[in-house]
Amino acid sequence: MRLDINQIASNGTALHLDMAQPLLSELLDLGTDELTAVKARGPLHVDVELLCTGDDYSVVGRIECKVEQTCIRCLDPVSTSLNLPIRVVFSRESTGFGANRDDLEPGKDHYLFSGHYIDLDEMIRENILLGLPDYPLCKEDCLGLCPVCGKNLNFGPCSCSKDEPDPRLAELSNVKL
Ligand SMILES: [Zn+2]
Ligand SMILES: [Zn+2]
Repeated sequence: MRLDINQIASNGTALHLDMAQPLLSELLDLGTDELTAVKARGPLHVDVELLCTGDDYSVVGRIECKVEQTCIRCLDPVSTSLNLPIRVVFSRESTGFGANRDDLEPGKDHYLFSGHYIDLDEMIRENILLGLPDYPLCKEDCLGLCPVCGKNLNFGPCSCSKDEPDPRLAELSNVKL
């Protein structure tokens, strides 16, 4: 998703951009395994205001999307709708991150660009990943999978606990007091 800086008006330009689901999936694909994968579940909407502030360009607005992660306990898919505020600055690569912008954190709210184009992709990816839960759960009290038979315990108990008691517990129950 590239912006031509020549098209930014001196008093700022409002932009609405969409990124189709396959492209967003590609952007979020970090080559990670299935457990930590983040997939797009719809298109991305970008609503931002662009403003030239001297040598820098500020991008302020919101991004909205729906993504899917994997529940860390039961491995079921977890959908999360994100509506994230965006407030970032793009500086020229030749200027670098500069000393006057201590308030900005490179890779989070401060990015570089070169030539005539500002590429929003990295900024979008970082903001989505930062906005996601670190430990996604399908529900707060997800019961997870049985470590013995692998059954999803959210759908009812498995027979493991009845048929195969923990041998250590069985031993204890045989002890005559
Ligand atoms: Zn779960
Ligand atoms: Zn079981």
